[in-house]
Amino acid sequence: MIATLFRNWTGEAGREAATASGAKMAQTGAEAAPLPALIVIDHLVKEYATGAGPVRVLSDVSMRVQPGEFVAVVGASGSGKSTLINMITGIDRPTGGDVTVAGERLNKLDENAMARWRGRHVGVIFQFFQLLPALTIVENVVLPMDFCNTWPVGERTERAMHLLEQVEMADQAHKLPGAVSGGQKQRAAIARALANDPPLLVGDEPTGNLDSRTADRIFGLFGDLVGQGKTLVMVTHDREIAHRAPRVIKVADGRIKEEIERG
Ligand code: ADP
Ligand code: MG
Repeated sequence: MIATLFRNWTGEAGREAATASGAKMAQTGAEAAPLPALIVIDHLVKEYATGAGPVRVLSDVSMRVQPGEFVAVVGASGSGKSTLINMITGIDRPTGGDVTVAGERLNKLDENAMARWRGRHVGVIFQFFQLLPALTIVENVVLPMDFCNTWPVGERTERAMHLLEQVEMADQAHKLPGAVSGGQKQRAAIARALANDPPLLVGDEPTGNLDSRTADRIFGLFGDLVGQGKTLVMVTHDREIAHRAPRVIKVADGRIKEEIERG
């Protein structure tokens, strides 16, 4: 999966490019204009071709996510949550409508440009962690920096260790993923998602494979990251966790049915 996320990376280096989030770019305008939304989805339609003809999975979805928001996406199994998330990360493409994330209109990007864009702007967190089993935890965290050629080679391990400290995993850094618990794997995966300092973190059921106490702590970590200025969109089945998010988007039958916002 990680190979898919970063495949065809051909870009050149640049710490500046890596840290230039959509939000920060907005601040370079002449006036202190209000920041544009980090995610802008307009009239999104997604159909899959099947043997029985096209099946519509997302119908006319429009939504905005502002920089610094913490959004939970909920809905029954098969309602289209993963499909929606995959449109935001550019892992899959719309059939119709527009998706703009961190100032980039994703519809327009070819595969190479998409991989390059994603590597720098989105940290993706998976239900089953997707750590490479033959690499140590710290090597897994260095990997996105290698793929995107962001931080200078000599600084990558130090940065990875710093990120692992942030998720309380520095003492596990030299173990293989197979030697640590599920919660610890997810912490490592979060550190990896932060490697290139993306403005946006996206998770598809990132606590779905964890016991409730561990899930709770991972959720707390997400809250901390939002407090540090990240924007977070996560799909979750866990009602209790969803209800703690400041904003909840409910997907049903490929449409947004309900939005709950708490001040
Ligand atoms: P959720 O994440 O909410 O469980 P998904 O977004 O994975 O739902 O799927 C929504 C619907 O789209 C489901 O009916 C699923 O079977 C269908 N679907 C997902 N991916 C494909 C695909 N590649 N081809 C055909 N149908 C798909
Ligand atoms: Mg899903």
